[in-house]
Amino acid sequence: MARQFSKSGTGQGNDLWPVLLLLVVVMVPTIGVLWFVSVAMHNEQLASQQRLSDAYRTHLLHVQETLDERWKGIANELQTLTGAAGEVAIVKSTAQQRFVTAVSTNLVDSVVCFGGSGEIVYPTLPDAISVEFEDARWREAVRLEYELGDLPAAQKIYQLLASEPDDALLQAFASQAEIRCLFKTGDDQAALKIANEFGDRFSTVRDNHGRLIAANVELMAIELAADRDSTSGLQQRLLQRLGVYGEGRLPASQRLFVMNRMAELIPDSVDDRILAAEELASRFVAAHPKPSRQATLQSSQLSDVWQMATPDGLLLLLLTTKTVTTQSASVAKETELPEGVQISIVPPGHTQSVDELISIRAGSQLPGWRLSMNLTDAQITNSALHQQTIYVWISVLVILFTSVVAVFLAISIRRQIHVANLKNDLVGTVSHELKTPLSSMRLLVDTLLDSSQFEPQQTREYLQLIAKENTRLSRLIENFLTFSRLEQGKHTFEFCAVEPAALIARAVEAAGERFYETGCALTIESAENLPAILGDEDGLVMALLNLLDNAYKYSSAPREISVQTKRDADTVCFSVTDNGVGMTRVAAKRIFQKFYQVDQSLVREGQGCGLGLSIVNDIVRAHGGEASVSSRPENGSTFTLRIPTATSSEASSK
Ligand code: ADP
Repeated sequence: MARQFSKSGTGQGNDLWPVLLLLVVVMVPTIGVLWFVSVAMHNEQLASQQRLSDAYRTHLLHVQETLDERWKGIANELQTLTGAAGEVAIVKSTAQQRFVTAVSTNLVDSVVCFGGSGEIVYPTLPDAISVEFEDARWREAVRLEYELGDLPAAQKIYQLLASEPDDALLQAFASQAEIRCLFKTGDDQAALKIANEFGDRFSTVRDNHGRLIAANVELMAIELAADRDSTSGLQQRLLQRLGVYGEGRLPASQRLFVMNRMAELIPDSVDDRILAAEELASRFVAAHPKPSRQATLQSSQLSDVWQMATPDGLLLLLLTTKTVTTQSASVAKETELPEGVQISIVPPGHTQSVDELISIRAGSQLPGWRLSMNLTDAQITNSALHQQTIYVWISVLVILFTSVVAVFLAISIRRQIHVANLKNDLVGTVSHELKTPLSSMRLLVDTLLDSSQFEPQQTREYLQLIAKENTRLSRLIENFLTFSRLEQGKHTFEFCAVEPAALIARAVEAAGERFYETGCALTIESAENLPAILGDEDGLVMALLNLLDNAYKYSSAPREISVQTKRDADTVCFSVTDNGVGMTRVAAKRIFQKFYQVDQSLVREGQGCGLGLSIVNDIVRAHGGEASVSSRPENGSTFTLRIPTATSSEASSK
């Protein structure tokens, strides 16, 4: 049975640069590919955005146009609804009605109404009239009520003044004060009676700020009455006052105040929208005593509040950002858009959102605002995504391919370096090793030739020495040749069943007579009934001979060398023990490496080349076995070759 042994090289030395080369070879194209892919992906994204932008621009322009119409429409609608168009003079009496009509449309958050000459007519305060009470009884009653706390006495005076003829204002104030005193003294019934009649009796009496006193009295009674239910009549009357806009009704500031109080006292009694509109209009007028009236949407002093005048300039529409956005969004919703996109309106100063595809001006009615089209559906971006996926896959494949090529390249380079190193080492070692036996032989031959006569005894001795050197030389060359064949994977082993005892006998014979000379004791111990092993006899003899040579070489007289053979499970163990120099644990770990020598000085002495044990190891591994060493410095060494038995080898090869 012939088997060829091939092995991968185990390079020595620092072969780091192939790794660095590998890194460079992989990194450079990888960085290039990644850069290319990122640029390509970015461009693809831009291109797909551009394609979409072009496709959707017309939709956006359409929305822009509709939006312009819508906002002009809103202004016109409110102008028409409030019935002010064309009227030259707008009287205050209709301003309140126009306010509530405009706000009730829900198109705007609030409005400010203007008169024909451009003055604000709602919300505004009516002209103040001066009210003074010179009457000493009034002052006395106030003193009694607030300073002395004599409520019954104060009430009596107020009651008297309330029936005072000719002065309606004094009567109204006195009656209000009387009601207050009655509530404070706990006489709710009497107080409510007067309060209920107050509205009819003083229906038009106002205080010096133009406030309707009756509304204040009704509110006061609702607040002070211990039982709020008993004021239901007053509540109804007051709420009715709040709901009716028009001539002789509540001025804006009083309406806002009473509305707020009523909203607090009786939940859900007041229309929140109207209340909010009143508040917004009041805040606006306070901040803009003379507001500009442009027919396009303008920002105002109030944050988040926008203003736009009707074409006739008689109404200033007030809108929060939310309302502008909602109204505009409804236009976008009414426009038929392709699937996956939505249009939103963006106030001035707002930054563009990341998913914005395209944006244009919102139109002439909304200066500074933008119409922005955003992608909502992943489907739209699918084509771009598809392209990007292709790029990513291409880059992954390129990087993968480059890596694989680089790995193969590095392995090949390493192998080349390894072979080159090996060649150098071998050439050096061979020439060094051959030199010693050749020069010894030449010396012996020269000595013999120089002598005038050949003395038989001396000639025999010299010839024996020459024969010894010759044997050494042959063995060396045999080792080199085996090593070279093993390295190239060309060594052929002829496997057959071999008797362990026969192997030992051949190896010991080949080792020579020096093992039986004085100063050397060779013992051979072989267990009985050892099984045959499946192996190449010549190869195994060479391995054992190398071990015996080393045992001799690395020990000195008196040498004690033993060869043991025993069975261990499915293997036969061949051990060669000597009493020589031994070695450290670190050296023992590296001993089977090529060209490794524990003591470099031996090389100089021509004592070895560091190949013997590596050959032993290769031969044993080719047999499916293993070689090991156990040694301690100055305490000898034991080398063991563990070879599977013939039966176990056959079983495993089946
Ligand atoms: P060589 O003996 O030709 O130098 P080897 O491969 O046979 O090469 O041995 C490698 C090294 O192992 C030797 O240089 C020696 O230092 C060490 N060595 C081998 N055998 C023994 C042994 N029996 N005792 C001590 N050292 C040994």
